[in-house]
Amino acid sequence: MSPSQIIVLATPVFFALIAIEFVVGLRRGRNTYRFDDALNSISLGMLSQASVVLVPLLKIGIYTAAFNSLSLVPDTGFWTTLPGWLLALLFYDFLYYWNHRLGHTVGIFWAAHVVHHQSQDYNLSTALRQPSSYPLLGWVFYLPMALAGVPPLVFAVVALIDLLYQFWIHTGQIGSLGRFDRWFASPSNHRVHHAVNDRYVDKNYGGILMLWDHLFGSFEPEDPREPCVYGTRSPLNSWDPLWANAEVYTALARDSWHTRHWADKLRVWLKPPGWRPADVAAAFPKQPFDITTVKTYAPPVTRPVRVFAAWQFVALLGGVAAFLWRADTAALSHNLAWFTALFAGLWAVGALLQGRISRGEVLLIECAALSMASAATGWTAVHLVFKPLTMVVALAVVIAAMRSRADSTLTGPRGASLLLAALAASLAGDVFLMLDGLFIPGLAAFLLAHIAYIALFRQGVPWLANRSAAWGVAAVGLGMYTVLWFGGLPPGLRGPVAAYVLAIGLMAAQALGRASVQRDGPSLVVAVGAACFMLSDALLAINRFVSPLPMSAFWVLGSYYAAQCLMVMGVLRGAAIALKANRYPLLRAPERHPDA
Ligand SMILES: [Zn+2]
Ligand SMILES: [Zn+2]
Repeated sequence: MSPSQIIVLATPVFFALIAIEFVVGLRRGRNTYRFDDALNSISLGMLSQASVVLVPLLKIGIYTAAFNSLSLVPDTGFWTTLPGWLLALLFYDFLYYWNHRLGHTVGIFWAAHVVHHQSQDYNLSTALRQPSSYPLLGWVFYLPMALAGVPPLVFAVVALIDLLYQFWIHTGQIGSLGRFDRWFASPSNHRVHHAVNDRYVDKNYGGILMLWDHLFGSFEPEDPREPCVYGTRSPLNSWDPLWANAEVYTALARDSWHTRHWADKLRVWLKPPGWRPADVAAAFPKQPFDITTVKTYAPPVTRPVRVFAAWQFVALLGGVAAFLWRADTAALSHNLAWFTALFAGLWAVGALLQGRISRGEVLLIECAALSMASAATGWTAVHLVFKPLTMVVALAVVIAAMRSRADSTLTGPRGASLLLAALAASLAGDVFLMLDGLFIPGLAAFLLAHIAYIALFRQGVPWLANRSAAWGVAAVGLGMYTVLWFGGLPPGLRGPVAAYVLAIGLMAAQALGRASVQRDGPSLVVAVGAACFMLSDALLAINRFVSPLPMSAFWVLGSYYAAQCLMVMGVLRGAAIALKANRYPLLRAPERHPDA
């Protein structure tokens, strides 16, 4: 049985304990759970487990390789005796202490570990909140065990024991345990570890034993007179799992980029969190941390949205469990496709709770993800349903958005009909391309979709407003067509494909020009979407006419759905902004009479 399968089997136990803690908290009148926060923490745990599967080499793989080639002591069988197991656990716990301590005191290690600390609540769901980038560097700390000849299996088991032990200590419902708190990691001393109070920060790193904290001077008991304030000193303020993982890497990269001193460009990554080069701190000052100004992040959510998010989450939890169960025997390409799909779903639920996208848009992203993953893994029955369904949902999202608006225009008087036409033509194209022998009708349908998009992007904006972007797109389009021409495009298709390349190029160039005129986030999103569309079509054509691409369905459909989702969401948001700013006052539909 693989470690991923053990985690799946442990999941009902985790949830049962979470439920018990929740009920106990309610009964005592001090509930420590908030729905959105717990959901975000568990989502990050799911992603962390799923990403471990994607980098098998970095997990046990590197350890095994190091064990095979660097082990200084031959395997005498000692490590599989009882004293051997205990010693291995002690050894692991010691190295974990240093792994964890450097995770708090070295910028680049903190960038991974920060995810575990971002929650402003402290409960059992916080224990599951783990980083996805940990496998990238975490293995470095355990090489001494490989040198000492601890076999990979023993290493994997003690690592799992150390991890599972730490689950129960993430609770606010268990108070002081007396002497136990001094010597073993416990709820009391680990609460201190998660606190940002001056006297608590960077204390109590131990995984199972507190011995290491006593030896190396990092032990701090909990003081009932100073309640713990949880989270990080620069709060995440987001339910976005991608941003949660990227937050500190981005900040470090930004500081490293901005500083003029070469040594500081490197130092940023190695210094403790919060350290900044003098020139960067002067140019981009940050408020010093003040515990009295800490605010809990809680964007408003209605009850129906919460219920919807809960159901999506349950479905995704099932998806991740199935993924982890089969991941060790599945092909890497299948794992990559399903990981991407599950990630998209978890991102969408976070974005919904944050008020960034609507319920319809969540369904759109999920359908697109299922369509892509089912195509990439050859699950035809599912693909036959979700490929057409995705565009149907896209149409429904646009219609619902139009109905909820006071004004029925969308980037101009015909905006809404043009967007609906583009999506309807895409739906037809999707269906034609699924069926054998209908490549030409498929091409024609997408040609119509592009023409509708071009007309949409022309609304209120001049033709090809950004000349250099237009030339760039023309060069790419010409290059693409040349590759196809010499790569094996049948002579009968040269004309239709040329028309198609012209249309998609014009669409991308028009969207880029529109973004440089409107200069706002939504039109940039639309432009990125249009560029993705061009990429998707290029991949599709190369795969079909020049040479088959590895994982072609994943890349072609992944970029296609990214394009459609970005364009739909970008256009709807741009229209909302324009409506607020009254950007198209002359194009507004006449107001309906209240009695009509
Ligand atoms: Zn920590
Ligand atoms: Zn913790």
